[in-house]
Amino acid sequence: MIRLSKKRAPKNGVADIASFSHVVIIGGGFGGIYAAKALGSAPVKLTVIDKNNHHLFQPLLYQVASAGLSPADITAPIRSVLRRQKNTFVQMAEVTDVDLAKRLVITHSHTIPYDYLVIATGATHSYFGHDEWASFAPGIKSITDATALRRKILLAFEGAETETDPERLRALLTFVLVGAGPTGVEMAGAVAELAHKALESDFRHIDPTLAHIILVEAAPRILLSFPEPLAQNAQKALNRLGVEVRTNTAVEDIHEGGVVVAGKPLAAQTIIWTAGVAASPAGKWLNAETDRAGRVKVGDDLSLPGHPEVFVIGDTASVIQDGKPVPGVAPAAIQEGSYVASVIRQRVAGQATSQPFRYRNKGNLATVGRSFGIADLGWLRFEGFVGWILWLAVHIFFLIGFRNRVLVLFQWAWAYFTFQRGARLITFGDSVLPEEKKLIEDMA
Ligand SMILES: Cc1cc2nc3c(=O)[nH]c(=O)nc-3n(C[C@H](O)[C@H](O)[C@H](O)COP(=O)(O)OP(=O)(O)OC[C@H]3O[C@@H](n4cnc5c(N)ncnc54)[C@H](O)[C@@H]3O)c2cc1C
Repeated sequence: MIRLSKKRAPKNGVADIASFSHVVIIGGGFGGIYAAKALGSAPVKLTVIDKNNHHLFQPLLYQVASAGLSPADITAPIRSVLRRQKNTFVQMAEVTDVDLAKRLVITHSHTIPYDYLVIATGATHSYFGHDEWASFAPGIKSITDATALRRKILLAFEGAETETDPERLRALLTFVLVGAGPTGVEMAGAVAELAHKALESDFRHIDPTLAHIILVEAAPRILLSFPEPLAQNAQKALNRLGVEVRTNTAVEDIHEGGVVVAGKPLAAQTIIWTAGVAASPAGKWLNAETDRAGRVKVGDDLSLPGHPEVFVIGDTASVIQDGKPVPGVAPAAIQEGSYVASVIRQRVAGQATSQPFRYRNKGNLATVGRSFGIADLGWLRFEGFVGWILWLAVHIFFLIGFRNRVLVLFQWAWAYFTFQRGARLITFGDSVLPEEKKLIEDMA
C-alpha cells in the first residue's frame, strides 16, 4: 500500500497535506487532466494514476498514423503538465480493480486508498462482436496504435515498389477504412493526401497516385453527427482527394489480406478500423450498471449511484441529458472533469453540490485533407478553408504544451505549402504483425 505521509509531501508543498482528503484520479486523458488541474489549488491531496506516462491528444492521432506529425507532438508527460501543483502526486501504473467497500484502487503491484475517486479511463475499440478482426484491421486509440498503423501504411508502398505480380500490387495499393465517422473521414483524407501528393514523386517503379482508398460505411451517409449538407460537402471533398466512399455498405468479413463488403471480396493489404468504441472495463471494477457500450451509468452529479465519493467521467461514463446521451468527445470529458473537481471542492468544504452537470455543446468540427474543414456551431456553419482554419485554431488551443503548439503549427504550415510529411518513419517493435513480417521477408 502506498502511504502519502508528510515526509513524502513535496518540499514546497502545503504543510498539512497528509491530513487532507485524498482524491485519486484514474486516467490522465482529457477528463482526468482537467479534473486534476481544477483541483491543483484545492485543499486536497491528489494522486493521478495512468498506465502511460503521457497525456495524449487523441483527435490528432490520425496525423501520426498518416506520418504528418510525430508522437511527441501530440503528447505531454503527465508529470510535467501537473508539475506546478504542489498537492499532486503522479503514478504510472495500470489499475486492475477498485474495492468500493475498502475504498482502495488496485494496481498490478500495490493498492492506493482514496476518500474521493474519479475514474476517467476512456474507451477502447469495439469490433461489434468480431474481436478476431482486430489483428487484420487495427484501430487508432494510442500512440502505439498510431505508429503501428503508420508502419503498415508506409510498408504497403515499400512492398509495392518491388512487387511484380499485378494482383498483389493492386492489393498492396488498396487501403480500406471501415467506419465514416470523424476519425474515418479524417484518416481517409490524410491517407489520400499522403499517397496522391506527399509520395507522388518518391518511387521509381510504382505510381503512388494510383493508390485506391475506400471508405466503407454501413449507414446511409458519412458523418452522422453532422448536419447532412455539411456531411455531403465533406464527402465531395473526399472524392476530390480520390477517396471512394461506399455508404449503405456493411463489412461482412475481415481476414488477412482483404475484406468482404456487400457480398464481394476485396483484396487489400491495409485495412483500418475507424468504427465502434467500447468503454474501459471500469464498469466491471465497480460492478456497476452500464449501457450497451460498457459505459457506467452515473447520476446527475456524475457520481456512481450509492457511492457519492466515486465519480465516473468522459468516455467511461454514460451521461443522459434531455433524453439523449452526452457524446464521447473531448469537450464533454473536459467539462465533466472540471465539474467533478468543483463538486469535490464543495464536498471537502462541507457544502452541498450546487448544480447538476450540464453539457454545453459548443460545436462539432472535422477536416478533410490539409485545407478543407467543416464546422457546425449550431447557430452557424462553416465549410472549406474557413472551416479548416476554425478546426486548426481549436485543435491548437486545446493541445497541451506550448512546445507542441508551436511545432504542430509549424508542421501544418510546412505541409500546407509543400504537401510533405515530416514523420515518414517505419519503426519496428513487438507489435509487428505476421503479414508485415511476410511482406518484409518478400522485400528482402
Ligand atoms: C482517433 C480519435 C480521434 C478523435 N477525434 C476527436 C475529435 O476530433 N474531437 C473530439 O472532441 N473528440 C475526439 N475523439 C474522442 C476524444 O479523444 C475522447 O472523447 C476523449 O479522449 C475522452 O477523454 P477521457 O478522459 O474520457 O479518456 P481518454 O482521453 O481516452 O483518457 C483515458 C486515460 O486513461 C488511461 N487509462 C486507461 N485505462 C487505464 C488503467 N486501467 N489504468 C490506468 N490508466 C488507464 C489512459 O492511458 C488514458 O490516458 C477522438 C478519439 C480518437 C480515438
